[in-house]
Amino acid sequence: MNTSILQRLRRLLASIIARAPGKVNRILRVGAPADDGYHPLVTVFEAVSLYEYVHIEEMPGTVDYIVTVCYLNQAEDPEATHIAAAIPDVDHLAMRALQALRPPATPAVRITVHKSIPTAGGMAGGSADAAATLVAVNALWCLGLSSDELQQIGRSLGADVPACIAGGVTVGVGRGDVLESIDDNVDHHWVLAFSYQGLSTPAVFAQFDRLNLARDLPRKHDIDLHYLTNDLAAAALSLRPELEEIGNVALEAGAQQWIVSGSGPTIAALVGDEATASRVRAAWALLPNVRGTCSVRGPVTGAELCEKLPSW
Ligand code: ATP
Repeated sequence: MNTSILQRLRRLLASIIARAPGKVNRILRVGAPADDGYHPLVTVFEAVSLYEYVHIEEMPGTVDYIVTVCYLNQAEDPEATHIAAAIPDVDHLAMRALQALRPPATPAVRITVHKSIPTAGGMAGGSADAAATLVAVNALWCLGLSSDELQQIGRSLGADVPACIAGGVTVGVGRGDVLESIDDNVDHHWVLAFSYQGLSTPAVFAQFDRLNLARDLPRKHDIDLHYLTNDLAAAALSLRPELEEIGNVALEAGAQQWIVSGSGPTIAALVGDEATASRVRAAWALLPNVRGTCSVRGPVTGAELCEKLPSW
């Protein structure tokens, strides 16, 4: 097609941007697997200010496609981009979210996924991609779905999708996908340590079973929100013993508590102030197994539309 016609066509086509936060599980309690192999969970999600941005643009043509760019500490991260870009478009949660909502006779789209959440890092990066896409598509084609309806659709895409849509602090039961929000708006300051290699969530659950770590689950009202707890930590640490040192170095540098985020390998440490955050990050930067660090706040609001992309 002639370039100027293409440019004019592009101007008529709509585009939209949305973002969704990653999460830290402040509490992750895991029971014995049920007959279907899934482990029942009681978990407290806190949405944190590390975001996936999704830019959806209507395009001429008939084929939807995905472009991925990853960032680490606000700079483009070619290695992570390469890994994330290897996910085939048909399997990509952003594509599956698009297809779950797409009305008939809508134009093809390009979805550009700007990722800051490490892939397979235990922070729900893939779920955040789906959550942001659901919010974006709902607005792009004026579908009028409520947040609850989007969460309901999101559950079929991934257990953490509802929490990424809801944001804030939520309690998840079942597979973690049946949510209730709880009133806990204490502002938290987290520092995160990323690893060179992701951890497979199924591999961590398999290790959890091998080590026989299942415990009776608490009732929602019995959860103590003051202490970070992760029943998957022992399994993740047995697969990645070096993570323990990362947590301990955070404590030595003044962090209050640390935790393996979800199924790992990201380590999340709670700190009291900016100065301690800087000290922890400086100490982590000296460790050979830390690929990068960042400082985030929580809880933050869930998936939402944005006027523009941040400047990385
Ligand atoms: P989980 O939600 O399973 O705990 P996680 O938070 O540790 O996962 P994710 O980044 O969501 O990490 O990746 C989980 C798995 O899904 C990995 O195998 C990864 O390759 C794959 N994955 C990551 N992002 C996407 C995506 N957008 N679409 C499809 N698969 C993805």
